[in-house]
Amino acid sequence: MTCRPALSDSHPPEPGTPSSPSFGVCGDRPLLRERGQHEVFCGLAGIIWLHRKIQDAFFLIIGSRTCAHLMQSAAGVMIFAEPRFATAVLEEQDLAGLADAQDEIDRVVARLLERRPDIRLLFLVGSCPSEVIKIDLQRAALRLSKVHGARTRVVSYSGSGLETTFTQGEDACLAALVPDLPSAAADEAPDLLVVGTLPDVVEDQFGRLFAEMGIARTAFLPPRRSTALPAIGPKTRFLLAQPFLGDTARCLEARGARRLAAPFPFGVEGTTGWLAAAAQAFGVDDLTFRRVTAPGRERAARALERQRATLEGKRVFFFPESQLEIPLARFLVRELGMEAIEIGTPYLHRAHLAEELALLPATALLSEGQDVDRQLDRCRAARPDLVVCGLGLANPLEAEGITTKWSIELVFSPIHGYEQAGDLAELFARPLLRRALLKV
Ligand code: SF4
Repeated sequence: MTCRPALSDSHPPEPGTPSSPSFGVCGDRPLLRERGQHEVFCGLAGIIWLHRKIQDAFFLIIGSRTCAHLMQSAAGVMIFAEPRFATAVLEEQDLAGLADAQDEIDRVVARLLERRPDIRLLFLVGSCPSEVIKIDLQRAALRLSKVHGARTRVVSYSGSGLETTFTQGEDACLAALVPDLPSAAADEAPDLLVVGTLPDVVEDQFGRLFAEMGIARTAFLPPRRSTALPAIGPKTRFLLAQPFLGDTARCLEARGARRLAAPFPFGVEGTTGWLAAAAQAFGVDDLTFRRVTAPGRERAARALERQRATLEGKRVFFFPESQLEIPLARFLVRELGMEAIEIGTPYLHRAHLAEELALLPATALLSEGQDVDRQLDRCRAARPDLVVCGLGLANPLEAEGITTKWSIELVFSPIHGYEQAGDLAELFARPLLRRALLKV
């Protein structure tokens, strides 16, 4: 069984579409839609946090030297770790004949699995050079699973920069795993599944909270080991931990699982709403819910108070990068007193973001997609106190005296849940404090 991405449903606009902006509505608020040049990392970046999470998996990128360089520089910090990703650089002669390319992939995989018998799950990750796109990696994965399946499961997905923003690499990876999840027995009690990569420490915190509420059967996707893939079925209820998992959610729903509508677990309000959605679905009484969540809520509120002095009243501008922008803006505005000028998102999944949008103040401009020059003009004209953007825009904006925060850092850092709320606020406060020090 396969589950293919639905481009119209959960992907940002494809490049090359007309650049003139259009205005739409999202609920009762205006939405600026742009379809111009956009500057984002590609989906290969997801490997950087996914390979740390699934400890017996290996990510083999089928790509070019550019892909290899990107991964080397982006993930250079992992240089001393046992590598769990690599790039098979297909040379031009390999690409001249696609049959040769398939043979080459078979050779590389056989060599890799011989050297690394610890690999239980191998991802073949597609990239965007035009000749690589033509290689049928799904067919390669099926063929290789037959050969190596007794020990290693082989799955393929695309991390191509043409179709994705960097967080959608995770969406594509998890969606590719869904068909391989075992089926839960129809008469089993409902299970809670948390979907989206969380650092182990955060996963443990949420697991404890659910257990204290009496929700005993909780699983996480992705799991820490590929041998522990969670079973799913019509009784599974799932909570998204990340707002960029549209395809994964769709594939889970196709297998009968049901999504629990909730805000995302950032800050006190988001975390409480997210936990409450599970509590409600599993019949946890109000008293138990309050008792279990009160200590975390209080600790988080105290931690946020410390950052409020730096952030309150400051104006923030989000460029579209990760799809985390709307939940993070909600957190900054409602819990730290910031003002959001523009909240750009690469793609707005209206159903998954409905609870977030209901909490956002109507004054912030929402924009979807990007026309980078126009957006830079709006940003410069607004002179915000803080801009959240990609690495490529941060340096020029800093040179113009505008304080920036790299959005990719927010994906690498533990930021979910009560215990991380203070650290999340600090990630936004730090650049403002640094700028204030430089001015002295
Ligand atoms: S997949 Fe495409 S965008 Fe990403 S590093 Fe490779 S060549 Fe560049």
